Amino acid sequence: MNVLSEGRPTRPDRIETGLPVTATGNRGLMLEEALIFEIGSSGTTGVDFDAAPKVSSRLGGLERKRPIGLPGLSEQETVRHYTRLSRQNYAIDLGLFPLGSCTMKHNPRLNEKVARLPGFADLHPLAPVSTVQGALAVIDELAHWLKTLTGMPAVAMSPKAGAHGELCGLLAIRSALEARNDPRAVVLVPESAHGTNPATAAFCGYKVENIPANADGRVDLSALTARLGPDVAAVMITNPNTCGLFERDMKNIADAVHSVGAFVYCDGANFNAIVGRVRPGDLGIDAMHINLHKTFSTPHGGGGPGSGPVVFSAALAPFAPLPFVERADDGYHLVEEETAGEHHGASFGRMVAFHGQMGMFTRALAYILSHGADGLRQVSEDAVLNANYILRSLEDVLDAPYGASGPCMHEALLSDKGFAEGFTTLDVAKGLIDEGFHPMTMYFPLVVHGAMLIEPTETESKAALDQFIMALRSVAQRAKAGDPSLRSAPHFAPRRRLDETQAARKPVLVWEDPALQEAAE
Ligand SMILES: *Cc1c(COP(=O)(O)O)cnc(C)c1O
Repeated sequence: MNVLSEGRPTRPDRIETGLPVTATGNRGLMLEEALIFEIGSSGTTGVDFDAAPKVSSRLGGLERKRPIGLPGLSEQETVRHYTRLSRQNYAIDLGLFPLGSCTMKHNPRLNEKVARLPGFADLHPLAPVSTVQGALAVIDELAHWLKTLTGMPAVAMSPKAGAHGELCGLLAIRSALEARNDPRAVVLVPESAHGTNPATAAFCGYKVENIPANADGRVDLSALTARLGPDVAAVMITNPNTCGLFERDMKNIADAVHSVGAFVYCDGANFNAIVGRVRPGDLGIDAMHINLHKTFSTPHGGGGPGSGPVVFSAALAPFAPLPFVERADDGYHLVEEETAGEHHGASFGRMVAFHGQMGMFTRALAYILSHGADGLRQVSEDAVLNANYILRSLEDVLDAPYGASGPCMHEALLSDKGFAEGFTTLDVAKGLIDEGFHPMTMYFPLVVHGAMLIEPTETESKAALDQFIMALRSVAQRAKAGDPSLRSAPHFAPRRRLDETQAARKPVLVWEDPALQEAAE
């Protein structure tokens, strides 16, 4: 079947550029691609198995009455379909990904090679522990590195993401408070926090209260201490924070929080800016998640869940979740159940069915070992250097609200101040798409109007940064000059500007075969 044949549906929202319309809807190598259901037909198949024997007699009348409408395509058509779709997407392997607060850096191919070794890739979570000693050694070794880099005595390896790690940390805090018969009601969260922080606290049954920032973008220590009291269970602080600034008062904050019997949760999503240079344990932190898919270069959404190990202080370690790996004289054990004894029996329980995400563990450990401690320190230094290069190269055309607060950490924060009437951060983001870049994080953190948060990461070369800066300078100047064509960008993407409200409120997630619908009526 020729998938480019006449009569093939064309997308209704194609770009109108004033250029000639081609017969296929394609423009050169930008191939138009319909849904797989629209290009396949249920009458065709890519394999020629014999017809399946009739089994209806054994199904007692429950057999399917109608075809289920799976598309039929040859293997080549299928491969082409997905390859074409992949070309309509942006990827870290295609260009710079300036997502603030969400380190999106190169995933070294060495990690991929290691993760694919059959001894790791083909593991089954129910394999007897005696047969997976190597895998447990990898988990233990990675745990050792995470504890060493953070200066914390314990780590829970099972949480599947940053947000899941926050849940793990707050459940441990809640257990610790309940264990001393001191349940508390409130969790304090700075205004600039990522939405997962208040969401996690609320999910754990806490009332969330905001703490304001001071004029230079950091937590207001006096406002925080004024609010602390016996009803406060924990303070959740992101450090470096989402304004791209290091919370210099962290130790004083932690001392104040501990003095009222509360705990300090640190959102470690920005650990990439300080890894190898600052040990959060030295700052008085009780629990912190580490997004392996951010700091330690494992892919975001790379073949299943991510991984968000949580490091714990000695005060919280006994409450950490099950299961965990323990090293003994006769090898590694997976401790699955609570046992009596010191540091055992207080765990808040299990967060996931199995013990974590081997694919992410192997990649993260390969990354850590290939850099070594010195290399990781260089990583954070270069990440910070690159972000400051971006900040200083843009601040004459874009407002940098905390530009005067000193150098930034690994993220540069800009605002929409000075754009022409009616022009927004969204327009700049769409303009960047036309320049061939994924937009930066926008409208976050909420404390800055029309925020643009840019994180180049350490893996980008100066040439790549210069190209991005040139593109953003150009788009920013168009926003300031009020160039009307920017309001309708993107012009050169597979789709033009979409109705994001409609997409969020009325998403169309299911394709229904018109023929089957008719048959059902
Ligand atoms: C990414 C991020 C999170 C959530 O982490 P996930 O791994 O996406 O669940 C939380 N806080 C901050 C500051 C982040 O950047």
